[in-house]
Amino acid sequence: MHLQPNARQQELRDLAGALARERFARRAARYDTEAAFPFENYADLRQAGLLALCIPAAYGGMGADYATYCLVSEEIARSCGATALTFNMHASTTLWIGQLADDLEMTPAQRQAHEARRARVYQGVIEHGHIYAQPFSEGEQSASGRLLFHSRATRVDGGFRLTGKKIFTSLSDAAHYFGVLALLHDESAAEPDIHYLAVAADAEGVEVTGEWNPLGMRGTASRDLVMQDCFVSDEAQLLPQGMYQQAARRWPHMFLTLAPTYLGIMQAAYDFTVDYLSGRIPGGPPASQRVSPVKQYAVAELFIRVEAARALLYRAIAEAHVDPAPEEVRRALAANRMVMETAVQVTTDAIRICGGRSMLKHFPLERHYRDARCGALMQPWTADNCLERIGASVLPAPKPTPDT
Ligand SMILES: Cc1cc2nc3c(=O)[nH]c(=O)nc-3n(C[C@H](O)[C@H](O)[C@H](O)COP(=O)(O)OP(=O)(O)OC[C@H]3O[C@@H](n4cnc5c(N)ncnc54)[C@H](O)[C@@H]3O)c2cc1C
Repeated sequence: MHLQPNARQQELRDLAGALARERFARRAARYDTEAAFPFENYADLRQAGLLALCIPAAYGGMGADYATYCLVSEEIARSCGATALTFNMHASTTLWIGQLADDLEMTPAQRQAHEARRARVYQGVIEHGHIYAQPFSEGEQSASGRLLFHSRATRVDGGFRLTGKKIFTSLSDAAHYFGVLALLHDESAAEPDIHYLAVAADAEGVEVTGEWNPLGMRGTASRDLVMQDCFVSDEAQLLPQGMYQQAARRWPHMFLTLAPTYLGIMQAAYDFTVDYLSGRIPGGPPASQRVSPVKQYAVAELFIRVEAARALLYRAIAEAHVDPAPEEVRRALAANRMVMETAVQVTTDAIRICGGRSMLKHFPLERHYRDARCGALMQPWTADNCLERIGASVLPAPKPTPDT
């Protein structure tokens, strides 16, 4: 029922944590100021083998499973939220086509084709440092979180023609491939399918456009992606036809992987608060202003919130598997909402407790505060959508009768 890291998980967590503390933390302010993608951090991740974190060992990767990924993500986020959030898009891609795909029902032909395709993806990551983004959001219909898309893929000889526009494409300046969701137009299919395709960043008809100057998570470089009649080959299907929807239905915890990033951010805000008020941070307040009963109570509140959020999230992570029970899905939604909302509260209160000087730009706290604000907005499990889904699952609306 709880996530207790084993030796291998601890080793990977330590590896990522050391890299993040020693390198990412000191670069974070610059990337944030410039709203620029952390290329140096990705070079370090590649060097350490972490781009292949969730690639199975049989393909030459580190073989991390879902839970291990979550632990590593939290650790990176403690030093740089934007690096953790973007790393989620890349690592999730490798996880979905790996561990998750293994749990899905496929025909032998689909399984064989998928095996060959994912082997090529993994090889590209390991040998060439390929980075994968996950631009799903389209704005207009994303609010429903119901996986409706305007982007269209049409079957043609040898592959697909793809047209559409995605907003908030994290890694837009860095990705070699964009893992896009598009509505598939296939005359032979009984109903429309959402297809998951890897679009090469240098393919004809692909363009990254728009400004990127947001409140928080500025290093994610999440600009718009425009695809105009671009060709995507059969080999670039990240999952076989029909499998994305099967995964979303049968492996719903796939949408929980953003939460560890925001847990890491709130932990960082808590750690800063304790260090700041303990006099361990140069430029902090004088001893006479550091500790009072009010501050002790307030820090205790922060501690309780962080630990409660972690306990629920870790439990939900430990329950992630194919075909979860309804209460496990509700708990995952609850964990997601709790982490996203608590991150906002903890970072807000941390500034109040520490005081005005703590939000000066040379401290990381105001960045944590701005980064934390983004979590509750992330589709498809926005904080509101989580509530809506839990409520509808516990208390479904009665079916309309002819006289209502
Ligand atoms: C820093 C950052 C990075 C991002 N990176 C990516 C990425 O890499 N890939 C990607 O696909 N997307 C990404 N996103 C986009 C994100 O997932 C959302 O799609 C985006 O924030 C939606 O913005 P919107 O204006 O369309 O708001 P909407 O989705 O329209 O939501 C507006 C508000 O209304 C609420 N709401 C709307 N309808 C409902 C409903 N029916 N029930 C309950 N609540 C509802 C929402 O919860 C939200 O609070 C990123 C966003 C940010 C901020």
